[in-house]
Amino acid sequence: MAYPTKVGSRERNSHHGRLKRVDNSNSRAKRLLEAEFDVIAERLHREAAVPKASLAGGDFLDVAQGIEHQELARLSASRLSERAKRLQIALSRVSEGDYGVCSECGTSIPPQRLRAVPDATTCVACQARLERGAH
Ligand SMILES: [Zn+2]
Repeated sequence: MAYPTKVGSRERNSHHGRLKRVDNSNSRAKRLLEAEFDVIAERLHREAAVPKASLAGGDFLDVAQGIEHQELARLSASRLSERAKRLQIALSRVSEGDYGVCSECGTSIPPQRLRAVPDATTCVACQARLERGAH
């Protein structure tokens, strides 16, 4: 992509160059998080609609299967909404400028980890420590 050739805008670009780069990487993370959030919201919406349709069927077996499906849908829906919650936390960290910083120890989270886990709010070491503590 080429820079605008007008002298005025070129001056502005070089003046805010450093700040702009930071904003760009954060807005890319934001877009990534928002896109994943949208997919999860869409899935939650779709899965919430499935059990009702299968329960509408007639005999006992259909109803039993419908309940089983509902149970599965409920389980995955709760996992999905947990994920949605994490994404929302990550998004609020982006807007506060804390994205990519470990919430536990304050060191920056390696970019490879953020690419693999875009909603990560802790570094690998802190995550492992928290998981050990949780059990
Ligand atoms: Zn940490």
